[in-house]
Amino acid sequence: MKQPSHKIFLQKKIYKMDITGLTHEGQGVGKIEGFVVFVDGVLPGENVDIKIVKQTKSYAVGRLVNINKPSENRIKPFCPVFDKCGGCAVQHMTYQAQLDFKKDTVLQNIRRIGGIQDVVVNDTIGMENPYKYRNKVQYPVGWDNGEITIGFYETRSHNIIDGSLCDIQPDESNKIRDIVRSFCKDAGIAIYDEKTGKGLLRHVMVRKGFRTNEIMVVLVINGDKLLKSDDLVKKLLEEFPDIKSIILNVNTKNTNIILGNKNICIYGQMYITDFIGSFKFEISPLSFFQVNPIQTEVLYEKALEYAGLSGNETVFDLYCGIGTISLYLSQRAKRVIGVEVVPDAISDARRNAELNGITNVEFLVGEAEKVIPDMYSQGVKADVVVVDPPRKGCDEVLLSTLVEMQPQRIVYVSCNPSTLARDLKYLTEHGFEVKEVQPVDMFPWTGHVECVVLMSRVEK
Ligand code: SAH
Repeated sequence: MKQPSHKIFLQKKIYKMDITGLTHEGQGVGKIEGFVVFVDGVLPGENVDIKIVKQTKSYAVGRLVNINKPSENRIKPFCPVFDKCGGCAVQHMTYQAQLDFKKDTVLQNIRRIGGIQDVVVNDTIGMENPYKYRNKVQYPVGWDNGEITIGFYETRSHNIIDGSLCDIQPDESNKIRDIVRSFCKDAGIAIYDEKTGKGLLRHVMVRKGFRTNEIMVVLVINGDKLLKSDDLVKKLLEEFPDIKSIILNVNTKNTNIILGNKNICIYGQMYITDFIGSFKFEISPLSFFQVNPIQTEVLYEKALEYAGLSGNETVFDLYCGIGTISLYLSQRAKRVIGVEVVPDAISDARRNAELNGITNVEFLVGEAEKVIPDMYSQGVKADVVVVDPPRKGCDEVLLSTLVEMQPQRIVYVSCNPSTLARDLKYLTEHGFEVKEVQPVDMFPWTGHVECVVLMSRVEK
């Protein structure tokens, strides 16, 4: 986008602007004299007063001062710390408006970046009850004016917002955070300081199996011992007998990565179990597992439906993680081959297949853009390909191999509409057509948009 480079904003001046869109992160977008400005906490259709707090060559960032004309979709956020907390971005919007926004984001991206005008995008499938939906939380722990803080980072900062209930976590997570906080106070546990690298407790992670009710509590520590840990175990179990696993995760590195590689089990076992559909999974502290298990089933069912399997197909599940989609597909395919770059995820995937007695699935470690061209050159082909890449989308080498391989269908699961649109453009220019697009709301109250796309080979 070309910007008028001469525009210089005055720091103290109040500017009026119309909000015309929202970014993926849920930030409002508008223009002042042709110059793009981003503002938190506003909605499309609103007219607002703002002050400019930052300016670069290509955009400016404003702070909301007043809403002159509110949107009809505006509601009061249910969380008292919504303005500060970096967790949710669109709590000031009705749930229906969020679903519409997510659908529209997908549609606009596919039209604008993908160059595909007559695409069918279905209404976003939302949650009946869009609260308490996360099965995992990772609270950073800090220290503020002599008090221990356990909460969430403020938007674009490492200040910790503590004190309120988080309504997208299950009740147990909130309560466990309180128990750990009071234990730390009583036991005099030193809190880790990012700046000096000193202190012990860094993060508290809680995971819950939604079907099994099993709970895991992980304390991430800068060391390998927690004094009086027996007291903590006792307190946690008194309140929550369903806790199956309490773990110390050792992370002594000065890094933003939350978990270290070493786990010490101080109560119960190293993992909890949960189900997606009829499949059972063992989840260890380091395992990736979808965080909204209810909508994951909706998403995978859609992917399975789009795969249109009869039982005779060879299917590739690329970017397969711990093999969840592969197991889903295995019910209706002859053979499924999952490919994933993280070796630990592949070990989990193999274990999960075994746990569920599934024998028609194989897993390979490596980059999809290397493994698939290699296999194709050896004559291995798929009838149907499912891809579920990270935010950056698929590598073009992979897409070009798929184009040569000519599967009947490609099912594309995406967490980023803009890279999805880029990849759909490539595939539609090379012999595939987009049949249908289904957005699924995996992260209510945030700007994240997930969708699944059915593409099929154009018959010549
Ligand atoms: N399909 C899985 C995971 C999707 S997340 C599920 O539904 O749970 C995307 C996955 O792609 C991650 O596990 C990441 O490790 C993996 N990944 C990233 N780049 C990759 C690449 N080039 N080749 C294969 N896998 C990759």
